[in-house]
Amino acid sequence: MSDYRLYSIGAGMGGMGCALALTKQGFSDIHVWESAREIGEVGAGINITPNLSRILDHWGVLDIARAEAVALDGASVLNCARDEVLTSVDFQYIEKEFGYPFYVVHRSALQKSLVAGAKGSGVVQLHLGKLVTEWDFDNNKFLVKNRTQVSTSNGHPDEADSQWVEADVILAADGVKSKARTAMLARKGEVDHVEDTGQAAYRIIVKRSMINEDPELVPFFTGAHSYRWIGEKRHIIAYPIASHDLFNMSTAHPDRRFVEADSWTASGSKEEMLDMFSDFCPRVQKLLQLVPKGDVLEWKLRVHAPLSHWIDGNTALVGDACHPTLPHLAQGAAQAVEDAAVLGVVLGKIKTKDDIHKALLVYQALRKTRADWAVLTAAANGKGLHLSSGLAQEARDAAFKAAKKEGGENPDKAIDQNTQRILYAHDCIKEANDKFEELFQQVM
Ligand SMILES: Cc1cc2nc3c(=O)[nH]c(=O)nc-3n(C[C@H](O)[C@H](O)[C@H](O)COP(=O)(O)OP(=O)(O)OC[C@H]3O[C@@H](n4cnc5c(N)ncnc54)[C@H](O)[C@@H]3O)c2cc1C
Repeated sequence: MSDYRLYSIGAGMGGMGCALALTKQGFSDIHVWESAREIGEVGAGINITPNLSRILDHWGVLDIARAEAVALDGASVLNCARDEVLTSVDFQYIEKEFGYPFYVVHRSALQKSLVAGAKGSGVVQLHLGKLVTEWDFDNNKFLVKNRTQVSTSNGHPDEADSQWVEADVILAADGVKSKARTAMLARKGEVDHVEDTGQAAYRIIVKRSMINEDPELVPFFTGAHSYRWIGEKRHIIAYPIASHDLFNMSTAHPDRRFVEADSWTASGSKEEMLDMFSDFCPRVQKLLQLVPKGDVLEWKLRVHAPLSHWIDGNTALVGDACHPTLPHLAQGAAQAVEDAAVLGVVLGKIKTKDDIHKALLVYQALRKTRADWAVLTAAANGKGLHLSSGLAQEARDAAFKAAKKEGGENPDKAIDQNTQRILYAHDCIKEANDKFEELFQQVM
């Protein structure tokens, strides 16, 4: 195993997850190539649902993320204008049934746990500031450019500073705007069509120190509840993170800024944000007002139709690169880490390098149906939450009330018990172990 070169592209959840999963199988030549020059506190709140906790626990890093987490006690969906609770779900059942609560953290806490686990193994080498720009799937190679050299004054990369890197396995976890995906699809004459949803998201974080013991706001910082205010074409979801020191709010709303919002760090306009949600109830207005002017981040919400394939030779797509999942189901990070965990298992089972491609096909067979389902369910959930007034909206709100009273199907799939069961009960490591031999015989 020591001579298997296993290289991940991207140090996000998928890429770092792969590195960590591979250390657990005894591999020792593991490298991660990341375009960012540092791994910082970029982003905002992210969800650690039980299917993700189970994997982190298996790897021994759950406590690192949990140290900064809040375990939610429940979630409510509210009418945005009237501030009226349409439905409330008690999350106590989640820990009882699935073994872990529903945690929320800052994205950096989850990333930190994966990075610490991978680095702690002593066998993962992390290369920061390295942008992968080309892929040679036939020869298991990729071209890396030093990011300090990528944009010279005339805008062209410095070719002298680039380097082709050869590996035995390439795990392309380069995120929602994956270039590996574009290159892989192009080899089969397919166009990489990332759909713009026409929606964008604000990410806003309010510090506990910013509230002046306002009795309407204090409960947001002291409680452990998630609130989703919904309205036509828009919603705001809000919950405490960082051991209750921060209150995280993220939105979905019509995209008015188009390409400018096409990055995780693009700042949004506070005035535009307040205008966008001016018809939301006073409690929400108060929260939005608290955000410092320069601290509003805005990015596009993108979707992608399920891909025809995730594997080319010994290269596999991982995470958002192959199944970018809208945030409306709280599964983006969890599905990326499930990919990583399954890759660890299947690669750990092969006896020779000649079997790498087949093992990657087993990974695709194990993961694709479930991940594609999560993508489609998240997209449909967004549509259902954003209905305009009319009969469909009335029926949905009646269903919310029925779910609250009688425990029926919840129109918000992120808190619907049947959907949660499908997502949270799943033990992807066990499934990969159980089904590997059978699938390995089947894949071609
Ligand atoms: C900076 C950042 C902040 C985010 N904040 C949030 C958030 O607050 N809430 C939320 O729900 N989701 C957030 N996300 C998205 C979320 O992390 C992903 O949806 C999910 O975790 C899936 O993980 P992933 O590994 O597939 O992709 P990501 O976590 O997006 O990781 C992809 C990684 O690949 C790197 N990369 C991309 N292209 C290249 C290249 N060509 N060469 C080398 N490296 C490359 C990126 O810099 C990134 O580190 C954020 C993503 C990023 C990158």
